[in-house]
Amino acid sequence: MTHGLPGLNQDEGYRRLLQGYLALRVLVLTLLLGGTLLYQVKGRPPGHWPDPQYLYSLIAASYLQALLSLLALRWLRRFRGLVQVQIAWDLLFITAILYLTGGIDSPFPFLFLLVILSAALLLTRRDVLIVAAAAAILYGSLVDLQYFGFLPVLPGISFVERVAPYRALYAVFVHVSAFFAMAMLAASLVGRLRYSEVARRQAEDDFAQLGLLNRTILANMPSGLMIIDLEGRVQSVNPAAEEMLGVTLEQLKDHPAGRFFPALEVPQEGRFRLVERAEGTLCNGSGLTRPIGYNTSLVNDPDGKLRGLLVTFQDLSRLKEMEERLKRADRLAAVGHLAAGMAHEIRNPLASISGSVQLLSESLAAGEEDRHLLAIVVREADRLNKLLSDFLQFARPVRPDQAPFEPAAMLDDLQGLVGGDPRFTHITLQVDAPCGEVLLGDRRQLQQALWNLLINAAEAMPSGGALRLAYEPQTQSLIVEDSGHGVADALREKIFDPFFTTKDHGTGLGLATVYAIVTAHGGTLDLGTSPLGGAKFIIRLKAEG
Ligand code: ADP
Repeated sequence: MTHGLPGLNQDEGYRRLLQGYLALRVLVLTLLLGGTLLYQVKGRPPGHWPDPQYLYSLIAASYLQALLSLLALRWLRRFRGLVQVQIAWDLLFITAILYLTGGIDSPFPFLFLLVILSAALLLTRRDVLIVAAAAAILYGSLVDLQYFGFLPVLPGISFVERVAPYRALYAVFVHVSAFFAMAMLAASLVGRLRYSEVARRQAEDDFAQLGLLNRTILANMPSGLMIIDLEGRVQSVNPAAEEMLGVTLEQLKDHPAGRFFPALEVPQEGRFRLVERAEGTLCNGSGLTRPIGYNTSLVNDPDGKLRGLLVTFQDLSRLKEMEERLKRADRLAAVGHLAAGMAHEIRNPLASISGSVQLLSESLAAGEEDRHLLAIVVREADRLNKLLSDFLQFARPVRPDQAPFEPAAMLDDLQGLVGGDPRFTHITLQVDAPCGEVLLGDRRQLQQALWNLLINAAEAMPSGGALRLAYEPQTQSLIVEDSGHGVADALREKIFDPFFTTKDHGTGLGLATVYAIVTAHGGTLDLGTSPLGGAKFIIRLKAEG
């Protein structure tokens, strides 16, 4: 069973209650002292008041006891024993007061009621009954002793000569009944008070828990949440929304939501159009847009009154990117499949043509002129055959033979190749690769991929420029970037398609081959904009977490 009123921190609440009780006692003592002083100044009041010295010493002892209790309260950790001592002391103190102020004629038995009430507040229900019983015994004994003439014992105390039996009985009956009635009433009231305090505390705890749960969910959910009011102004956002928008709630608050959600219809006269599932764009604080999926629902207050609109949205950038990659891979697979079939079909007749022409040229009937023409046919057929072999290699790439190697050494080799190639004459190449790093992959294939990217970069800078070739170990990325004319937005998705070229003599197979090599390594190939001014190709070999 708990002691004291719960609701506050258990110990702290009890300590405060106890302090209040001690303060009340000091107040009662002071009133008694004041009364006694008055009584001395004005002369003895009617009744049986003793020599004031008795009262003084009793009150002084009680002050001392209250002081000791207050000190003990500061040091003690458990108070129950202290409270029991206080209550016992108070019962004895009141009995002494009654004794000094005329026993049955004393006006102070009501003080017992205060002690019983205090016990109800500070102790258990059982203790209250014990205190009431103790008060009844003490009061009854005092009246009995007085009735049988054993009192007063001390000098300077006057009692009535004789107490009529019915009066003694009546006084004991009335007071004992009052003590028990008070004990039961107080215990029941305090019990109820405690119960409602426990219930209130529980409700408060539940509320706090719920609040915490809500805050945790809102703070950790990956979807952005935005609440807008009936005028379409932002009222609240969660951390995910702040991150996507790149601004804080303070900066967003009361701004029209349409600024961030161009697709969201601004409500007219508080009528929102609900969206179950839609895609749109989100403009962040710096004006950048990103694709999002969103849905909306109404926010009503507990009375059902419309308060605003809740917009839930998710960033679809990565999903869109993945979608685009898959589409590209599909496209490549389909084109590659078809083209590989055709290349194969062309190769067979080509071999027959080449063989037949060779036979023809070897026949005696062929003249010198014919032999020259037939030799051209054989040479061009060989060239075509090689082109087809290259194409087949692209279309049916060899599985990468993965082994650990030093990317820095590979970039070094490429630097050597660049140095000896006239296409790079007016180009300054910068190579950034930390030594000692090891990468797992097919070095020959990756070098081929980088070479294709380097050639493209050189062709994008016909009058020279800057070129950077780098390896970043944190993301296992190989980077080729240049200061050339870059890739127009409209071409960004197409340039990876086989046979797509913007050059007069291009084959459109360079980037498609790079793409095939990188995907065979389980990596990704991305196009960005280089700080040098041109295109930036990034081969990421480590899948992003
Ligand atoms: P090709 O080089 O034969 O045209 P690619 O597949 O290598 O074929 O390149 C496809 C297209 O991508 C090029 O025609 C060009 O328009 C563009 N491209 C590739 N690399 C770059 C670059 N570094 N800068 C600008 N455009 C580029």
